[in-house]
Amino acid sequence: MGNSPIYLKTDEEIELMRAANRLVGRTLAEVGKEIAPGVTTIRLDKIAEEFIRDNGAIPLFKGYDGFPASVCISVNENVVHGIPGNYQLRDGDIVSVDCGAKLKGYCGDSAYTFEVGEVAPEIKRLLKTTKESLYEGIAQAVEGKRIGDISHTIQAYCESRGYSVVRELVGHGIGREMHESPEVPNYGKRGYGALLKNGMCIAIEPMINMGTKNVKFEKDGWTVHTRDRKPSAHFEHTVAIRPGKADILSTFEFIENGLN
Ligand code: MG
Ligand code: MG
Repeated sequence: MGNSPIYLKTDEEIELMRAANRLVGRTLAEVGKEIAPGVTTIRLDKIAEEFIRDNGAIPLFKGYDGFPASVCISVNENVVHGIPGNYQLRDGDIVSVDCGAKLKGYCGDSAYTFEVGEVAPEIKRLLKTTKESLYEGIAQAVEGKRIGDISHTIQAYCESRGYSVVRELVGHGIGREMHESPEVPNYGKRGYGALLKNGMCIAIEPMINMGTKNVKFEKDGWTVHTRDRKPSAHFEHTVAIRPGKADILSTFEFIENGLN
């Protein structure tokens, strides 16, 4: 995806992407309602898949490069790309759910890290910082800036608070395809990288670790975990680049209203 052209979207296309991303936000909220100690991650996957299909969309991750499930579910030290299975959530776990859906030919992609029961204060702080860094990055996602402005801002925000930034996995352009150009790393230099233009759509997704930045890829071919097995958090929004202010196409409103 790194070298392919960057497609700018029309206003009509951006509205279609908003609809797909809204469905993703509603799906994450449906999953979030079920999250509790004792629930298996495969159960959460079923809920997501049914909800996406019932709403006339297609789960983007199912079959993507052979991925066997509809959402990625990554618990505790698992950073991303966890395969749902028989693991039963436990009190104190954190669980990243990454969801993609294609609706009327356009893609939505968003992720949220949920708390299971009572989570330790230092882990809550990791989640809070990671989510804040996403919004700090989004504040840089405006016409005339560069990808590196987003990347640097996320990195500086997290590292100054004692966390580390995963290097091997990055955000991405998004549109008719889930992964388009450009790549959107969560680390980098201000003023470098692709110029942000009106109508560019990107998924910004900080993956932030409590300990070392280093990760390991598991033998299942998918799951990525922190090398020191300390927790990792992941939040993702799809946004459209606009003059002055990004338009956030995905939403956590359904999730967070449900949590209140
Ligand atoms: Mg995602
Ligand atoms: Mg993504």
